[in-house]
Amino acid sequence: MDGDERYSRQQLIPGWDQLKLDNSSVVLVGVGAIGSYVATVLVSSGIGKLSIIDFDTIEVSNLNRQLLFKDEDVGKSKSETAVQRLKEINPIIEIDFYHKKMEDVSVTVYEQANVIVACLDTFIGRRWINSMAIRVKKPLVMGGMFAFLGNAQVIIPYETACFECQPLVPDEELAQACTPFGKERKKERKEIDAEPPLPAVATLSSIIGGIMAQEALKLILELGDKLENYLFYDGLHNATTILELRKSKECPTCGEMYKLEQIEFVALPTETVKELRMRLMLTYGLEKPDLMVRGKLLEVEALLEDALNSKKSVVFVLDKNLAQPIKIVLQLSE
Ligand SMILES: [Zn+2]
Repeated sequence: MDGDERYSRQQLIPGWDQLKLDNSSVVLVGVGAIGSYVATVLVSSGIGKLSIIDFDTIEVSNLNRQLLFKDEDVGKSKSETAVQRLKEINPIIEIDFYHKKMEDVSVTVYEQANVIVACLDTFIGRRWINSMAIRVKKPLVMGGMFAFLGNAQVIIPYETACFECQPLVPDEELAQACTPFGKERKKERKEIDAEPPLPAVATLSSIIGGIMAQEALKLILELGDKLENYLFYDGLHNATTILELRKSKECPTCGEMYKLEQIEFVALPTETVKELRMRLMLTYGLEKPDLMVRGKLLEVEALLEDALNSKKSVVFVLDKNLAQPIKIVLQLSE
């Protein structure tokens, strides 16, 4: 078959298992500069299935680095156009696409992946995909870039530090750009969605995309050492730094307490739902959480003693920054 010759050179690599790769699938979130490169590598290498999620359309300013796209593609869907180009590169790969926001893609899509690769340029987006990867217990490879600087991270749920565990992002303001230079771009959180354009060049997206694709292949093929677990790359000085991040027991996404669903909160019966919500926002860095008990949303102005009919309740905290709700055990003090 065609594949035998197509993949013959990589099969010379000790430990390379083409059949294993052929039986694996990757979900790629974001097919911009880094994502284009990751997709090209995975499809050329013979990944069994690739699912691409991106709701964006192609702009002229993308063409300097988003190497899957041509001049004639301006205005078209990134995910759909990427699939067409990738099929030209390797027609035997199963590739599908979702021209929608990752939050609107069914959880079953993420569940079916062997590895999730996320090439996102917002902190909120990274946070969301991290919680989804933890939820479906799939390895997550993430990366980003800023001018000649880049980073890549590998997260193995419940095994390595996740995005929320790491001390590199102490708060939203430091990390808005998802780059080591968040501080320079300090802004109000509300403005995150309207990011000014980031400086970007194809050399960096190829390097970071190459590292990310390589980590994804290594995870699938169980080859070598996985990245432990955060890599900074400085292209101007050819410097690479690897940081081993610590997994946090208190992490709201993957921590032990969360896993055991035993996050205990104590509140006064005379506190309002709004006051409790404010505390949760500060504790977990949430946007505007809704609190739900037994399937019912709590009225924000209500007193806790009226809203809850028992001294101890399981409260679900839903927020757009979370792919799954946080469960807390709320104890009303005497
Ligand atoms: Zn964590």
